[in-house]
Amino acid sequence: MTVVKYCNSLFSYSRLKTREVKVGSIGIGGGNPIRIQSMTTTDTMDTIKTVEQSIRMIDAGCELVRITAPSMNEAKNLENIKKELRKRGYTTPICADIHFTPNAAELAARIVEKVRVNPGNYADRKKFEHIEYTDKSYDEELERIRERFLPLIKICKENGTAMRIGTNHGSLSDRILSRYGDTPLGMVESALEFLRICEEEKYFEIVLSMKASNTQVMVQAYRLLVNKLCPNPEGSNTEEEKNVLTIRENQQHPLGRGASVGLGIYPLHLGVTEAGDGEDGRIKSAVGIGTLLEDGLGDTIRVSLTEDPEFEIPVAKNLAERYSARQKVEGKRQKVEERISNQYSPFEYSRRNTNPVSNIGGSNVPRVVADFSNLTPSPSPKGEGNKVTAANLFAVGYNYSVPLDKWNITDQACDYIFLGDNEINFEIPGTLGLIYNSGKWLGLKNKTRSYPLFYGSEYFSAKERSRELNFVVVDVALLSGSELQIKNLDKTVVLIFETTNEHGMAEQRRMFFELLSPLSNELRSQPTVVLKGEGWKIPVIIKRSYQDLSEEKFQLYSSTDFGGLFLDGFGDGIWINQKNCTSPQIVNSTGFGILQATRTRISKTEYISCPSCGRTLFDLQETTAKIRSRTSHLKGVKIGIMGCIVNGPGEMADADYGYVGTGIGKITLYKGKEVVKKGIPAATAVDELIELIKINGDWVELAN
Ligand code: SF4
Repeated sequence: MTVVKYCNSLFSYSRLKTREVKVGSIGIGGGNPIRIQSMTTTDTMDTIKTVEQSIRMIDAGCELVRITAPSMNEAKNLENIKKELRKRGYTTPICADIHFTPNAAELAARIVEKVRVNPGNYADRKKFEHIEYTDKSYDEELERIRERFLPLIKICKENGTAMRIGTNHGSLSDRILSRYGDTPLGMVESALEFLRICEEEKYFEIVLSMKASNTQVMVQAYRLLVNKLCPNPEGSNTEEEKNVLTIRENQQHPLGRGASVGLGIYPLHLGVTEAGDGEDGRIKSAVGIGTLLEDGLGDTIRVSLTEDPEFEIPVAKNLAERYSARQKVEGKRQKVEERISNQYSPFEYSRRNTNPVSNIGGSNVPRVVADFSNLTPSPSPKGEGNKVTAANLFAVGYNYSVPLDKWNITDQACDYIFLGDNEINFEIPGTLGLIYNSGKWLGLKNKTRSYPLFYGSEYFSAKERSRELNFVVVDVALLSGSELQIKNLDKTVVLIFETTNEHGMAEQRRMFFELLSPLSNELRSQPTVVLKGEGWKIPVIIKRSYQDLSEEKFQLYSSTDFGGLFLDGFGDGIWINQKNCTSPQIVNSTGFGILQATRTRISKTEYISCPSCGRTLFDLQETTAKIRSRTSHLKGVKIGIMGCIVNGPGEMADADYGYVGTGIGKITLYKGKEVVKKGIPAATAVDELIELIKINGDWVELAN
């Protein structure tokens, strides 16, 4: 039985070794640290503004500055920008961002250190048409692309210029869409079409990216790309590489004829497109980028926020630096025992099949557990724990109105509160459940909607259990050891997966493998085995604890740790415990944000807003804030806010409504991919967007 792989190890942290690509003064991939980059948002024709913004980015830690070059004029002006930067003492390499215009790419490749081409639109004007391609007409198209692409390769070779082949989910060519659809495989193939040409020309200074706004698609596409590009056996010399290779030994190399052997995989540039701003943008970026970094993928990252680019840098650094520390952590806790399940596919989303217990698991959305066990509001006079007040529930989505004697339950109201040994002595909202330490629960007079939490095998020796719902906390040792016999847990049990491992996502994923493919003792003695089987259908809530982190690190780390599991369909609930990091309100919104970003539970409006660049035709940050203030209560509606008509419509991908700049002060509105109104004055465009949402039945009035 072979298991498709996409990284060195699913169990211990190991960065995938890629070949080094030189970009001016820096190397990307190989033994280099994960490089941080970003993109300017100024008009490329405004040399001074672009230089000054680049300097702010560089001073914040940006190691590669990308600048848009939509036409020959901008490409030419890169020379002035580069000169001015060098004059001011900055040697940071520059990357020209190219869409549609090979001429601009060819000029830019003579000036700057790197060019980025989008294989979805290089020499290809997208018609948004579904064309039926025969093999012959498809090959003719490829030949046309090849002819148009060859001069750029030649110039890059002559000038030592690197290239990123940067696929975007939202701007795949009509050719790819017609053959592979709007899929991760289509994204991979889109890059491979260009990569094959580069390799045939013996040009290898290439970085690859597979960006999408949908984090499931983005993660799957990168994994699939690595799986397709496993290095050739002849070139491998490490044990890790050989392991990856054995898996692919009977498959044809996807690069096909002319593929060069032994070059290793190209460096990966990671990014989530149109992630948005603020908390949402950070959580979404961490879910996508962090999930891949956890598995050792990624040589350079760009976090795309609808904010000034210098604010992207600390976020990217916080994400990347966690892994330089991870690499150094040694010792027993770090190693996760290997166990692979053939019911796990890293290339498609499929939720783990569970039997529902109360409102957890089965087809229920993942539940959110708020942790009030650390809360110290008002000590109980009898010293039997602290009392939680109605006011404390405000932070987790429940607002009590005294005059109306009524709870207002928001879309981000948690489903359970873990009280530990604390108490609540008021009537809780009807949708809420309470979890107590089992000893405390046992002494409760009123056990309505209150449930006990047991630690491991303590469950079996309990004097009393709930007839409805019991929570049992397990770690990896308990789960795979003999003390906890899953088959003896009854149908009221929900497991809580806990870990203190530095590489905790891998350990918790490994715990899910244990449930997917239960092992006999005999098979346990083998290092890596794969079993078929039904698996245990017991629901699982994933729990992680954080302490003494800044609020931003708390959000990025938790989004990474939980994101990777929810993107793979694991987890029937989320439980975040924290001490000294942030407020209960931020913990709650982070939990819901992670579920939204992984598309497993939608609790708010989704904004797919581009980070803006030199093409942007209006103030994106201000407009996004304006649209958000009017529509943030439209749960589940996806609104694309894009700076330009050239890339905007394609890149807003699966948005329900689109607000796209089409000229100075002019906006075009979209319903899905259809243009609904063109050239609306910006002053009235937000009102028109609201009207459009109303006409299409997606508007709801804000509750008072
Ligand atoms: S969609 Fe936004 S970021 Fe992309 S090219 Fe247009 S303005 Fe620039």
